[in-house]
Amino acid sequence: MIGQTISHYRVLEKLGGGGMGVVYSAEDTRLGRRVALKFLPEELSQQPQALERFLREARSASALNHPHICTIHDIGEHQGRPFLVMELLEGQTLKHRIEGKPISNENLLEWGVQIADALAVAHGKGIIHRDIKPANIFITERNQAKILDFGLAKLAPRQKVAGAGNEATVTSDENLTSPGGTVGTVAYMSPEQARGEGVDTRTDIFSLGVVLYEMATGRQAFSGSSTAVIFDAILNRAPGSPSQVNPNLPEELERILNKALEKERDLRYQSTADLRADLKRLKQELDSGRTAARSTAKPTAPAAKSVAVLYFENLSGAKEDEYFRDGMTEDIITELFKIKGLHVFPRPTVLVFRDQPVTATQVGQQLKAAYVLAGSLRRAG
Ligand code: ATP
Ligand code: MG
Repeated sequence: MIGQTISHYRVLEKLGGGGMGVVYSAEDTRLGRRVALKFLPEELSQQPQALERFLREARSASALNHPHICTIHDIGEHQGRPFLVMELLEGQTLKHRIEGKPISNENLLEWGVQIADALAVAHGKGIIHRDIKPANIFITERNQAKILDFGLAKLAPRQKVAGAGNEATVTSDENLTSPGGTVGTVAYMSPEQARGEGVDTRTDIFSLGVVLYEMATGRQAFSGSSTAVIFDAILNRAPGSPSQVNPNLPEELERILNKALEKERDLRYQSTADLRADLKRLKQELDSGRTAARSTAKPTAPAAKSVAVLYFENLSGAKEDEYFRDGMTEDIITELFKIKGLHVFPRPTVLVFRDQPVTATQVGQQLKAAYVLAGSLRRAG
C-alpha cells in the first residue's frame, strides 16, 4: 500500500490499525496537504445500507466542525474497500498517554471538558458515538483532545451477545482477549450496551465516565480476564474507589465519576452538557486555587486564625508511602475545616507546594497564613 497513489492520495506510512481497519498517513496531491486514510473492512461494501448510514453519521459529525472532533474530509473506495480521508493528527491516542498511570488532574479536566463539549454538541444534533474509549480519543501535540471514529461503531459486526443497538466495536480477537489477560473494547460499554438494549446519548456518558475513571486512576474501571467477567463487572459491580488508587483526586471528581457511571441510565447524568458543566466548574476551582497560591504576597496581614497544612515530606521516598502521606495530610485538612472560625487553606492551594523546594516560612508568607503545619513521614519496618 505504501507508495501507492489511491485516487489522488499518495500513501506515506502506516499509522496503526484497530478492529475497524488500517490507518495510513497520505498526501492529498491536489490540495498538497497531509491527511490520514482509514481503510475499512472489505465486507462493508457488501452492506451498502450500513455503509450509507455510517456515512450520513460521519458527515454530520464532521459538519459540526468542532475543534475536538477529528474532521472527515472525504470518502472513497479502493479495490472494493471503502476508505475515509480525515484530518491527520500529530500526537498519541489517550490509550498511549494513560499506559497504566493516572493523568494529572489538570490534563484530565482540560481534556475531559473538551471531550464532553464535543459530545454535548454531537448529542445536541442527535449523533451518538457509541464507542467512546481511550483508543478513539487522540491527544495532539498541542494538548488538544480530539474524538475519532464518530458513527463507525454502527458498522462493526455485532457480537453474538448483542442485540439491536449494541454497536461498540468488538471485532478482532485482539480486542477480545489480548495476551496480558486484559480485554479491550467491551470494557467501555454501557450496561445497556452490554445487555444488547437500544442505546441513547446516555451510553456515551457512561463510556466517557469509564474513560475519565481510567484517566484518574490509570486503571480500567471494569476489567477481567474474559468478556463475561467484564460484562459482569459492568452490570453488577461498582469500580474500586478512585481516590484509593490516586489520593490526589479532588473529592468532587469522584462524585462526578460516580454520577457518570450510574448503571441505571435514569440515575446517570441525563445530559452531556451537565457533565461538561460539572467538569468545567471543578476545573475553574482548581485553576483559581493555583492562581491564588501563585499570586505572591502583597504585604497585608494574614487572617489571624488561618492555617496552611503542607503535604508531609515523604522521607522514605517509596510510592506506597506517598499515598499514605497524601491521605494523612488531606485527612488533617478535612478535620481542621470543621473548626468554626479557623481559615484552612483548601487542598488545591497547598497541593501546588507538594514536594516543591520551598520552606514552611516561604509558603506561610506567600499564602499569608498565620500558621503553617509541616511534617515528615518515615516508615520503620
Ligand atoms: P477501532 O477500530 O475499534 O476504532 P482503534 O481505535 O484502536 O480501533 P483505529 O481507529 O483503526 O483503531 O486507529 C488505529 C490507529 O491509527 C490509532 O490508534 C491512531 O494511533 C491512528 N490514527 C487513527 N486516526 C488517526 C488520524 N486521524 N491521525 C493520525 N493518526 C490516526
Ligand atoms: Mg478507532
